[in-house]
Amino acid sequence: MGEAKVYVTRLRNQVDLRRLAFTKPTGGAENCIFCQIVSRRSPSNVVYEDERHIAFLDIYPFSRGHTLVCPKEHGETIWDMGETDIAELFQVASKVSKAVVAAVQADGFRFVQNNGEAANQVVAHVHVHVIPVKMEDRGRFTDRKRFTPDEMEETARLIRSELADN
Ligand code: AMP
Ligand code: ZN
Repeated sequence: MGEAKVYVTRLRNQVDLRRLAFTKPTGGAENCIFCQIVSRRSPSNVVYEDERHIAFLDIYPFSRGHTLVCPKEHGETIWDMGETDIAELFQVASKVSKAVVAAVQADGFRFVQNNGEAANQVVAHVHVHVIPVKMEDRGRFTDRKRFTPDEMEETARLIRSELADN
């Protein structure tokens, strides 16, 4: 197994772009599951969409309502994004977090944003996890859960409805 490294590429405009490597080829936008969700070639429970972002339920959630917020434009890690776009992504994530917390009657939430294989990033398309948590979790990280398709859609419906009200 090769080692993931941070390496630096010199761009035409002489800016150093730092990239986080993955040990296996990431395949680019053509083979990206999140790009397929954006273009509706793959199904998902979408809760929010605007011109440049999409948010949908995580298929294997840490808690009910666990949502992923993505820029529609493909980029592997946050280092592939401009600062304005990063700020906008977190503004959307913040808006979505309020709807998620209300929809599942959570007490708090986590933003998790993994960059690079070393950080456990599995899908190489930038995303922010919005993970609702309850007091009863006592700050502990819970195991991933499975919900039925009907339960997932009902959760998505509740989040969409909270977003529509605000
Ligand atoms: P990360 O480890 O930060 O790359 O997280 C990727 C997340 O994407 C994981 O929590 C997966 O459960 C989730 N995921 C992978 N495929 C899909 C999919 N088709 N629809 C929704 N979530 C997905
Ligand atoms: Zn993608």
